[in-house]
Amino acid sequence: MKKQTTTTPKLDFTSKWAYAPSPESTDHVQLKEQYDLFINGKWVKPVKGKYFDTVNPATEKKLASVAEATQEDVDKAVKAARAAYENVWSKMPAKERAKYIYRIARMIQERAREFAVIESMDGGKAIRESRDVDVPLAAAHFFYYAGWADKLEYAFPGKTVSPVGVAGQIIPWNFPLLMAAWKIAPALATGNTVVLKPAETTPLTALKLAEIIKESGLPDGVVNIITGAGATGAAIVNHPGIDKIAFTGSTDVGKLIQKAIAGTNKKLTLELGGKAANIIFEDAPIDQAVEGIVNGIFFNQGHVCCAGSRLFVQEGVADVVIRKLKDRLESLIVGDPLDKNTDIGAINSKGQLETIKKYIKIGINEGAEMYQSSCAIPSKGFFVRPTLFTNVSQSHTISREEIFGPVLAIQTFRTVEEVIEKANNTPYGLSAGVWTDKGSKIFSLTTKLRAGVIWANTYNKFDPTSPFGGFKESGFGREGGLHGLAPYLVMN
Ligand code: ADP
Repeated sequence: MKKQTTTTPKLDFTSKWAYAPSPESTDHVQLKEQYDLFINGKWVKPVKGKYFDTVNPATEKKLASVAEATQEDVDKAVKAARAAYENVWSKMPAKERAKYIYRIARMIQERAREFAVIESMDGGKAIRESRDVDVPLAAAHFFYYAGWADKLEYAFPGKTVSPVGVAGQIIPWNFPLLMAAWKIAPALATGNTVVLKPAETTPLTALKLAEIIKESGLPDGVVNIITGAGATGAAIVNHPGIDKIAFTGSTDVGKLIQKAIAGTNKKLTLELGGKAANIIFEDAPIDQAVEGIVNGIFFNQGHVCCAGSRLFVQEGVADVVIRKLKDRLESLIVGDPLDKNTDIGAINSKGQLETIKKYIKIGINEGAEMYQSSCAIPSKGFFVRPTLFTNVSQSHTISREEIFGPVLAIQTFRTVEEVIEKANNTPYGLSAGVWTDKGSKIFSLTTKLRAGVIWANTYNKFDPTSPFGGFKESGFGREGGLHGLAPYLVMN
């Protein structure tokens, strides 16, 4: 029998969907030319006097220069955190601690617009994401954990809990403010003090958070925020005065950290890379699924460790899903992160853009079929067109390695057993998505997929009450929810 093919005329989105520019104003944003280190409640110059630039990846223009903390600065920060822990924070009644955490949450809300704009300027993500996701969720995490501070005995009934001490926290560039909130809020609620280091390409919202922390009246030294690159992170990890490390970043650095603290008493949580499977069954609501796929990998430039970067479509609907996806790709707006119409902003750094381009080349060279949106991209700044690959197999590099960009590798499957096998065939296990009309299928898959978070008929949904974390090389320990308190507590 002749194979039925469906062809649709190519839609002209450029004229139909052209929006007038709608850039968010930057007038209300106050950035200093130079940022020092936030240690013991004060802005202090780095001992060696070195600074580095943080640039706007959409314009390649410098935004500010930022201090590079060395071993000596890390030592100061850890000592300040230790003194604050011993003299003030661990002695303060929990309900008093909670008030500071609530205050920080409210101040983030009050300055939400400024935070969102700075996040988009420094990191490149579309303002819609930073405004609607990053900043509200960061505030929500502080609110949520403020609520736990004086209820820890109910969180872990029958156990006696006490804080760990001084937490060293190292975060990546994809959700700079949100990751700072994920790390700081539970640490404070459980009575710990903190030395936090944001990523070198996105330090500004963490430094703005330091301003809020100072204004909130939080006792000096309870939260110290220091900037620098990998060497600064390593100095935190190796400092003997640190009791716990919380790290979010690449699997390679996670492995280095695990080696570095082996044989010490330091507690560790790692949230590392991912190569999530997003699975579409024939009985799925196809249009919603297509939107979920786009949300899972293309919004936020694919800069999400839980991005649905491997798509598995059941054979019967593969043609229609791929056609609809290609149409949707054409309608995505790539460009100025500060424009409210933008779907996909700038890639965070030149280095990351090169990595993404390298993987696209590998995909083509290994025989996968590439489709890219025909959209125009700005000539200045770090941008890439949303890209999908069909004709992909399990052995292709693009379906095995984390790309951390808007690049989707599509495979098909016939049976539930086959897709479980394929989805689990990865060293990672952070997240997955399942799209089907059948609740029984969802429950069957959630018990068999080796992933920490599984979304059903949705994707990339976060809530402070819900734990997040990985299996296998995606790390261990959970952040968020009641589970997120445990790594900051000693339990007897
Ligand atoms: P990504 O690929 O997301 O940039 P990285 O793991 O390189 O992830 O970076 C995540 C965070 O880890 C950043 O804050 C970075 O400065 C820090 N970092 C990099 N190398 C090290 C290291 N050897 N030890 C501790 N922290 C590090």
